[in-house]
Amino acid sequence: MTRTRTAIVVGGGIAGPVAALALRRAGIAATVHESHATTADGVGGALGIAPNGRAALGLVGLGRIGAPMNAIVLQNHKGRTITEIRQPMEFSWRADLYRRLYDLTLKQGVQVHHGHELVDVRESATGIRAVFADGTLSEEADVLIGADGLRSTVRRLIDPQAPQPRYSGLLGFGAQVDGIGLPPTGDRMYMAFGRRAFFGYQTFDDGTGVWFANLPHPYLTWKEMRQTPNEEWLRVLGEAFAEDSVPALDLLRRTVPEDLITSGPMEDLPHVPHWHRGRMVLAGDAVHATSPSSGQGVSLAAESAVELARALRDLPHPEAFAAYEHARRDRVERVIAQAARTNSGKAAGPVGRVFRDALLPLFARLATPEKMAWQYDHRIHWDTPVAV
Ligand SMILES: Cc1cc2nc3c(=O)[nH]c(=O)nc-3n(C[C@H](O)[C@H](O)[C@H](O)COP(=O)(O)OP(=O)(O)OC[C@H]3O[C@@H](n4cnc5c(N)ncnc54)[C@H](O)[C@@H]3O)c2cc1C
Repeated sequence: MTRTRTAIVVGGGIAGPVAALALRRAGIAATVHESHATTADGVGGALGIAPNGRAALGLVGLGRIGAPMNAIVLQNHKGRTITEIRQPMEFSWRADLYRRLYDLTLKQGVQVHHGHELVDVRESATGIRAVFADGTLSEEADVLIGADGLRSTVRRLIDPQAPQPRYSGLLGFGAQVDGIGLPPTGDRMYMAFGRRAFFGYQTFDDGTGVWFANLPHPYLTWKEMRQTPNEEWLRVLGEAFAEDSVPALDLLRRTVPEDLITSGPMEDLPHVPHWHRGRMVLAGDAVHATSPSSGQGVSLAAESAVELARALRDLPHPEAFAAYEHARRDRVERVIAQAARTNSGKAAGPVGRVFRDALLPLFARLATPEKMAWQYDHRIHWDTPVAV
């Protein structure tokens, strides 16, 4: 058997560092190459880490990061509670998760190179090298892992016809607010299908709170969203929630415009036909982006990164890539499809809203912990050998 000894990891977001740490645990030396010249400290909004993701992150040595959240209270636009879904989650700022992972990779001796934007690869019988935008090349390695996010270059190198992200019709916003003037929601996050947009919030004992909103809107890139001043977005969001009996307006009014996070268009990638080719393979959003509605983006990315390392530990890379895809594809595509159905409820038009509101109690009955166990109870058995 030709054992994998070295790996190039492209992308220093979440999946990349988790892959590097898991590879290291599997006895494979990995180097991370990130296109941004600097670290991503302070960038991004809030994310949910599901129990399955928490377990995968635990396998690479990352302990708890965020605030615990044990239930989601689902409401309609009148503020009437439709159901309470009991489900432990961890609520973290992306920047905190990123920094903790980054520190861990450095502590474990993994090299992270910034300003290395991969534009091409050179593959030979003995190995693969990354070609960067400045014309330099990486060291040769046995495999190259594309953890380069939603607009992955490695995905295009594997398959020039690979699909592009699909827009859900929703733009994402959020903020942290001080002095919220609302009672603490304890360990619960409240979420409401408003008449025109979707709203979620959680308030804490110290008088702070967080909120997020999903606004139906024609497609805008992240850059285009940022061209509109935050004051204007807060006004647009205020209009969207004006007729709803949920505390959206209170929280929007108390949001300092500079603190508004425009988290970008909500996109997914429901089916990528080719996950690997030759010595290249994909992980994380590059191959299975799910819209934030699933609360599983980070968790699935971490699971895949760990599963890939486990397969490479036990099998030569062609078999390892196939075993990895086999282990992951159905699961991730099922989560993505479920999140897309949730999005269609959030972006419903006037007629769709009537159906959605009528069906919400049914959806709620389908979202019991037992029915969701396939998502949350998934665990990776690191010590079990991977077979072809
Ligand atoms: C700056 C940033 C902020 C985010 N904020 C949020 C948020 O607030 N809420 C949320 O739900 N999700 C957010 N996400 C997405 C979230 O991190 C991912 O959905 C999830 O964690 C999966 O992680 P990933 O590592 O696969 O992808 P990502 O986290 O997107 O990481 C991909 C990394 O690859 C790098 N990269 C891309 N192309 C190349 C290339 N050619 N060469 C080298 N490196 C490359 C990117 O710069 C990035 O660091 C954010 C992503 C980024 C990059």
